Parts: sequence; C-alpha cells; structure tokens
Amino acid sequence: MKPKVYLCEENLRALIRGAKKNPATVFVKEHRGEDVFHVLFGDDARQASSETIGKIYLAPSSEKIAQALSEFEALDASKQSVLGAFVEIDGENVRAARARLKRGLDVVECDLHFVPLKSDLYSRSKGLLETDALARKRAMIIGLGSFGSTIAVELAKAGVGNFVLMDFDRLDVSNVARHACGLNDLGRYKTRAVRDLILAKNPFANVETIERDVRECDALADLMDGAHVVICATDNNRSRFLINETALKTGTTVIYGRAFTRAEAGDVFIVNGKIAESDACYNCLVGLHHIEEEISSARQTENLPAYVAPEEREARIQVGLSSDILPICNMMVKLALLELTALDDDSPAMRELRSELTYNYYFWANRREKIFRAFEPFNDAKGLPTILKWHGALIEKNKQCWACGSPELMLEELKKGINGQELPV
Ligand SMILES: [Zn+2]
Repeated sequence: MKPKVYLCEENLRALIRGAKKNPATVFVKEHRGEDVFHVLFGDDARQASSETIGKIYLAPSSEKIAQALSEFEALDASKQSVLGAFVEIDGENVRAARARLKRGLDVVECDLHFVPLKSDLYSRSKGLLETDALARKRAMIIGLGSFGSTIAVELAKAGVGNFVLMDFDRLDVSNVARHACGLNDLGRYKTRAVRDLILAKNPFANVETIERDVRECDALADLMDGAHVVICATDNNRSRFLINETALKTGTTVIYGRAFTRAEAGDVFIVNGKIAESDACYNCLVGLHHIEEEISSARQTENLPAYVAPEEREARIQVGLSSDILPICNMMVKLALLELTALDDDSPAMRELRSELTYNYYFWANRREKIFRAFEPFNDAKGLPTILKWHGALIEKNKQCWACGSPELMLEELKKGINGQELPV
C-alpha cells in the first residue's frame, strides 16, 4: 500500500491565495506503523509529529512541477522525513496534485486525498437536515460531562457551526468510562477537550470555551441571549434554577436532561424561549417532581443534606452505564436540532417530527426497578408505560412558581396559610 496523505482542500485554497513562501513548510501528523499522514494547519499543528515535516510546492506548469520534484529529491531526509505535496495551479484552481515521501535516501509516491470543502462535508445529511442553516446556528452547552460531551459531538456531526462550551471542571479518571473524551485528555479542561472533538468532526466550527462555574459567570445572560439553543447538562438544581431564571429573561430555549439513580431512568424537559402563559418553566417542573437524581461525582455529594456522613457520601456515588444515558442524550439532540432548524427547515422529515414532539416533558426508563417496577414488560405492552420507550407529557405551569408565576398569586397562596392556619402576611 502506498502511504496515504490527507490535505484539507479549504486550507490548500487559502495557501494558494496567500502563499508567501514556495514551498510552504507545513506540519504533519504521522500515524506511525500505518503510513497515514495528515497535513496540519492552524491550531491542529499542535498535534504535529517531530519525525516528519511537510512541504507544499505550488507551480503553474508541469515543467515547474518536475523542477520542484527534483529539488525535493535532493533534500536531506537523514534526520527527519519530508513529505512533499506538488500542486499544479491555474490561478486559484488546482489542476493536478501528487505527493511524495522521502525517508533517508528513499523516495516513495503517496496517495494524496483531499478533505472536502465545508459545503461537501455534510452533503450526505442534505435532504434530512438543512445543513447550511445549521452551520450558522449557535448552541450553548453548559456542563461538559457525559451528557454535554456526547451531545456536543452529535450536534457537530449534524453540522452545527457555532458552539459555546461552559464548564469549570477538568477530566478525571472516574469520568472516562462515560465521557466522550478518553484517557489522552486526563487533567484537561473538559471544555477544551470537547472542543478538540468537535473540531475533529467539523474543522470549520467556531468553538468558544468558558472555564467558569455558571454561578460565577457575569456574562451568562449575554451568552445565553446569543445562543439559538441552550443545552443544560449540569448535575445540580442550583445551576439549573439559575439557567432557568436567566432564560426567562433572555427568551432563550433551554433543553434540560438528567439521569436518575444509576441511570435506571432519565428525563428531558424543554422550555421554549417564547414561553406562553400556560407553559411550565424548569422551576415549575421541579416543584412537581421529587426524583432521586444520579450522583456521579464527588462534587455532587456536596448537594446532599448536611446530616449525610462523609463516609456515606462516597458510597452514594453510583453511576449508571453509558449505554443507559445515551437514549437521553439522543432525545436532547433531536429536540435541539428541531429547535435550531425551526425557522429554516421545512423538510417533510423534520416537519413530521416537529408535529409529533409537541410535549415539553419526556421520560425514559431503562430498567423495571424501584419506582418503575409497576411498568409493563416491554414485550407485553397494553399501551401502558414500559421500559425502553419514550413517554411524553405536557407539564402545566405551576401558578405559584417563584420563577415564572405571578407574585400576586403567590401572595394569595401564602395568605391562605398552611393547614388553614392563616399567616400574618
Ligand atoms: Zn415556573
């Protein structure tokens, strides 16, 4: 097999337009033992291998290319291999291109492949998704744990072009089993490690990372205001309440998702930015449902009541399987894509999905355990809830909600008192 060389077409075009040196020296990532080489530009150059350096020769005729080839063959490759790409150009157009690798005294011909232009990268999704519109959209993801990281990568794969990632945490060994990032990223900010995953899927995405606790971010309202959708994938209600309150002010649509104990189940809640009089906000939902959430990190045990002893806190960390949280991530991605394409995509597939996913609350159970024991077996459904199926519900506004309810109504309720005992309000 000839060595394979990958060169990004968009970068090559930029080089043709602005080449100052000919040949241009570029960085190369070598996958050793596989004879695969990626030519790197910009930020990607950080992954460069020290064993191989790249040179791109631009020439207007085949004679000049032949001249460049003999120049290349005379290079000293005793200490570092040299990869040469020879591009015959006509103005800004590429007429022909080839690549050669020089290792020591050996020169071998390579297979040169172009990584396609932005417009072609997601062309296979066309007809299913309005990829051009998605490229202009901005998704903000708060919390880059197992949920946030998975959702970020899926949205990048769908062609979403702009991201704001917010999390103050770093990747720990205990995260790796469920996180989209692996051991290579240990110790890194989750935001930056996920940014690299997004760019590996969509090198044209703009990714802003913010290593701050959402509760300490003064710019939260501005950031949320600038996003077309916010994914709330944090692991505690304090941050969710703050995001909810901010979204009520900015009018941003927020999708909340979480897993219950050991990911036996999970739910997804969406609050449309243009919240109607009768719609519930996140605070309305939590007032109605007291569910034992999954505790997946030591930090989350801080949310346990003060009477829980330190030795018991560690025992409370019980994470579910990654495969049990994926369905919940998947629903959040679908709802996010519907929201992001709401104004631009009228394809039959999206229109149909939009006409059916009309609830604001979605519920999923993985196992018939504990409170879900009463669920019907999956293979014996009589139209009743079963495991491994989505159930939708329309949660109504709680009129006494302290985030979205009316202050007059809250006061009235207070006046009614507790157990008929009137309070001195
Ligand atoms: Zn509310």
